Amino acid sequence: MSEDVIKIFASKFAYKPDSWIERSIKRFRLGVERVSKYKFRVRGMKNERCSRYTVVFMGHDENGLPKFFCPCQLRRKKYGKAERYCTHIGAVILYILSKVKEDPSLEVMIP
Ligand SMILES: [Zn+2]
Repeated sequence: MSEDVIKIFASKFAYKPDSWIERSIKRFRLGVERVSKYKFRVRGMKNERCSRYTVVFMGHDENGLPKFFCPCQLRRKKYGKAERYCTHIGAVILYILSKVKEDPSLEVMIP
């Protein structure tokens, strides 16, 4: 992954803590797979509940920002800690940013 992609990613998510950025990068390096047009698979880390997370692009919100679903959010909602973009989704966005030049169909999913 190029430094440029990391810079773009970090600037888009400047409001997130460094730990969120770092964890997303780590997940991206562990492997993200695009399984269909709007569906991605992110490998789980050690100690995580699932061995892989399927992240799905769900269209855009009223502000034109892309929405993604990650199954980890279902669980966290129970504890009132659901976040718009978890680090599984962060890894998917890194994947999208790193591949968009060769595959313009990814562009619609860039925040
Ligand atoms: Zn997640």
